[in-house]
Amino acid sequence: MTIKGSCLCQSVKYELSDAEFYPVTNCHCPNCRKVSGVAYGTYLAVKQAKFRWLMGEDLVTKYESSPETYRSFCSRCGSPLAAFDGEDIRCITLGSTDGDIGKRPESHIYVSDKAPWFEITDNLPQHELRSPDTRPQYDPSSD
Ligand SMILES: [Zn+2]
Ligand SMILES: [Zn+2]
Repeated sequence: MTIKGSCLCQSVKYELSDAEFYPVTNCHCPNCRKVSGVAYGTYLAVKQAKFRWLMGEDLVTKYESSPETYRSFCSRCGSPLAAFDGEDIRCITLGSTDGDIGKRPESHIYVSDKAPWFEITDNLPQHELRSPDTRPQYDPSSD
């Protein structure tokens, strides 16, 4: 299944093809709260090799929010596109995907840091910090 995404102003578009999909998580850490402007960020981790920009890559700006953790956003409209833009793995923002990608959030992470004004009302598993299954193990031999 091919997943497509774009920013608000439509200057930046991307796609993931033949992606191996990892669990979708809601991250409640303060950095995700700041960068999203809402209670938490929702992300899908994919291998960089499966990801490509279709247009507007030159407008994508990376901000290093903590050492080696890069947040990517459209410099024109400000839409967050990826939360963790590492060498091997990119965590795309679910809000930037287009259409129904057939994935749903599977857990909450960094719940110990969640906003005091937000209450989790679903029954998804909650992890104090990172869940062991949120950052996929990168296996270059599987490419
Ligand atoms: Zn944009
Ligand atoms: Zn976070």
